[in-house]
Amino acid sequence: MTDMAEVYARACAVIPGGVSSPVRAFGSVGGTPVFLASASGPHVVDVFGRRYVDLVCSWGPALLGHAHPEVVAAVTDAAARGLSFGAPTTAEVELAELIRGRVPSAEKVRFTSTGTEATMTAIRVARGATGRDVIVKFAGCYHGHSDALLAAAGSGVATAGLPGSAGVTRAAASDTLVLPYNDVAALEAAFAERGDDIACVITEAAPANMGVVPPAPGFNAAIRALTSAHGALMISDEVLTGFRVGPAGWWGLESDEAAGWTPDLVTFGKVVGGGMPLAALGGPAALMDLLAPLGPVYQAGTLSGNPLATAAGIATLRLADDAVYAHVDRVSAELQDEVAAALDAAGVAHRVQRAGNLFSVFFGEHAAGEGVANYAAAQRQEAFRYTAFFHAMLDAGVALPPSVYEAWFLSSAHDDAAMGRIAAALPAAARAAASA
Ligand code: PMP
Repeated sequence: MTDMAEVYARACAVIPGGVSSPVRAFGSVGGTPVFLASASGPHVVDVFGRRYVDLVCSWGPALLGHAHPEVVAAVTDAAARGLSFGAPTTAEVELAELIRGRVPSAEKVRFTSTGTEATMTAIRVARGATGRDVIVKFAGCYHGHSDALLAAAGSGVATAGLPGSAGVTRAAASDTLVLPYNDVAALEAAFAERGDDIACVITEAAPANMGVVPPAPGFNAAIRALTSAHGALMISDEVLTGFRVGPAGWWGLESDEAAGWTPDLVTFGKVVGGGMPLAALGGPAALMDLLAPLGPVYQAGTLSGNPLATAAGIATLRLADDAVYAHVDRVSAELQDEVAAALDAAGVAHRVQRAGNLFSVFFGEHAAGEGVANYAAAQRQEAFRYTAFFHAMLDAGVALPPSVYEAWFLSSAHDDAAMGRIAAALPAAARAAASA
């Protein structure tokens, strides 16, 4: 193999699109995806030894940077004791206790291997608890790739421009009501019309799969109030935000406000597994005990609560102290300012939107003027400018998310040297965006 195109061609011969998850294929930004060989701290290294400052962080998990020595040691120790038992472990108990310590509403926790399973199970619990079929989700929110949740999803579904997915039955889709995000009136109308049928409202605590679109003040509280009033559950999906935007996720950031709210069920993934396949759902015992073996709602997994994954999760949560969050907040704010300054200097209309330490950039006059409050607005942006910006950054050795619909991720390992390399690359990338 002499170049990346050759590597990609080999991959495409045996793997659909050459990738195990669609956004990795550079579908929306074009060009050849970069095949990685290793990662350490704020860097990823491709199969030809080229090093990039990484702003993807495995799409969130690498809060401490890649291959943090203490996390790697915890996983290595666990591996020496056995890769998978298919039996309960005290490590699962410890991780569940750590989660509950940070998010007390997660009184009991069930572990899965993926965020998709966590949200799918949360929906099943909600239907089991209420005896109702209909679920409400918001356009542009991504909750994984289970049938019921693929309708008008963000992330890779947005990138590919698909309305949903082939292979999802009409029945599955018809039980999913898709509403515009940040629109309390639409939610009120849905409950007025179908309140007795609605099992739950599932929402990203702060959406980051249509670009970053923070909840308007009071929106999460409004979801809480309406679901409670109509006997439906509120599921807060913190797979992406959980333990990343703060010690107790987005809920922790908002719960200090007057409009505090607590969801019935919460889902976690990414950071909670420290880079290993692990996710979770949590909630009050009364709901969680509906799960088998105690209750009638079935859910299972051969590798659920896997000892390597729980070891990585425990080590990561133990290391993710206030100093870690303060650092990520600081470098994120710094980078937001630098990106905005570079784009301003190049005359590119844009808006940087943030939710805690997560942010993304929306391009175009429309976004710059009104801001982006929902998926329809997110889709009106000038995505082609991001394509030029992305490739200029990549050429300069900075790996951005290969889609304008994804958040940018930083870590506690992003030091001055890494930040300097990003800052140095920004002016040329901004000019590339201007002339796109
Ligand atoms: N929910 C949210 C908010 C997510 O961002 C994601 C993944 N990006 C998922 C669920 C699905 O998680 P997984 O990819 O682990 O199945």
